[in-house]
Amino acid sequence: MVSSGIDTFFLDNDLISIVGNLSFNLYLEDFFVKAVSIVGYKNTGKTDLAFRLCSQLKQNGNSVSYVKFSSHGFDSKDSDTQRLSQITDQVAGISKQGSFVSWPSKLSVLDLLPLLNSDFLIIEGGKVLDYLPRVVISDSIQAYQDLSSDLALAAWSDLFDTDFYCTQDISSLIEIIQKKGFILPGLNCGACNHGRCFDLAKAIINGSADIEECVCLHTELNIEINGNKIPLNPFVSSLINGALKGILSNLKGYSPGNAKIELEI
Ligand code: SF4
Repeated sequence: MVSSGIDTFFLDNDLISIVGNLSFNLYLEDFFVKAVSIVGYKNTGKTDLAFRLCSQLKQNGNSVSYVKFSSHGFDSKDSDTQRLSQITDQVAGISKQGSFVSWPSKLSVLDLLPLLNSDFLIIEGGKVLDYLPRVVISDSIQAYQDLSSDLALAAWSDLFDTDFYCTQDISSLIEIIQKKGFILPGLNCGACNHGRCFDLAKAIINGSADIEECVCLHTELNIEINGNKIPLNPFVSSLINGALKGILSNLKGYSPGNAKIELEI
């Protein structure tokens, strides 16, 4: 572990560990994934574009995660998984080639983020996501205006005579995502003075702010659940941090430095 004078709080199944002095840079790096959503109306080629992007990114030597939003669920008709998911609460599969867990409810991208450890995160759909940039598939200026929500990095379009950036070249699009892709924690805590994550996201996209202005990526306390680092708003961070330090400082033998606490729950 790297020492930098900060406390870290681990929860690991039946065990809680509180370890002093681990670098928060590891935590910040989790949010340095280059993320983008691909939005567009039905049957406009979102999957095709996602496939081409992921394929090219992999060919370029990157690790890539892909998340798909679906309004009609996921088709696994007549599979054993489908039959078992109807009589159980959750289904998981493990094989040498890979593993999966099927949840019976909707999760947020941020719930999944700790599991998606990649250089790039390509999200297909998710028009409601307002804490990351998007590529808009548009065959008209009106479609672009309706879908961009001030979060567009580019339009995937042949409308070249516009005041927004249009391209149909995968390499150019990858270059933009490489430079400008990001994801914010989506806590809407207001601590960055931008009000909501949406407002900071817009400012990052128009070049007037930086992701490091998100205060929640710089809290003095890190929490990991099952090894996955999760965002903390500054109030909760300072509350837990202060409480732990207060308790520890009253113990005989306390002294500043590295500390490790393990608690079975
Ligand atoms: S500090 Fe971060 S999580 Fe909080 S509103 Fe700003 S961008 Fe969102």
